[in-house]
Amino acid sequence: MPAHKVLIVEDDAHIRRLLRVALERAGHAVSEASTAREGLSLVDIAKPDAVLLDLGLPDRDGLEMIQLIKARSQATVLVVSARDETAEKVAALDLGADDYLIKPFDTEELLARLRTAFRHRLATQAERVNVTAGDVEIDLEHRRVRRGGEVIHLPPKEYDVLAELAKRPDRVIGHAHLLRTVWGPAHESHVDYLRIVIRGLRQKLEQDAAVPRLLINEPGVGYRLATGER
Ligand code: CA
Repeated sequence: MPAHKVLIVEDDAHIRRLLRVALERAGHAVSEASTAREGLSLVDIAKPDAVLLDLGLPDRDGLEMIQLIKARSQATVLVVSARDETAEKVAALDLGADDYLIKPFDTEELLARLRTAFRHRLATQAERVNVTAGDVEIDLEHRRVRRGGEVIHLPPKEYDVLAELAKRPDRVIGHAHLLRTVWGPAHESHVDYLRIVIRGLRQKLEQDAAVPRLLINEPGVGYRLATGER
């Protein structure tokens, strides 16, 4: 993986050191902040490619930080949170966080998440018109899905949900986002619609619909299209 600039915003010195060691070993240039205030000024000065953001900061709400970072920078935001709360993960993703990790985390997992984030940063949504996951190919330009080379005909809602996931592969897409995009803003809370559509997709696309490997459920949060590239 080419070297990137990574900013750590974290008030716990021990975790900062852990992150720094792992990131530097992977060849990244690291800067550190222990407060939100310091973090925001480093976003401007160091112009990081990615920000590892702790949600529990002393001087500002971490969720608010996501918006402030996204407003002033193109950096990938990876939330690193001690709080394993579903509502918070959903909020973080809805506010524009690219991914999240729960403490304590494995540094290999962190580096893998970063690699995925950087790869998707290069292949922007517009460029990425063909997405492959297992033996399934999704051609976003022609709205065509193939499995093992054979065209699979999907009902419109199934295609639309799959396409939304395929636009940001390997990343969790929140229920609310999928419902808003595919069904419209009035249906944001109808998670049951989504469940039915995912079940239909799994029957058509998974080797074994009972053991999904492509359409991964993140309980209470959303779904992820696993490309296996990670
Ligand atoms: Ca903290």
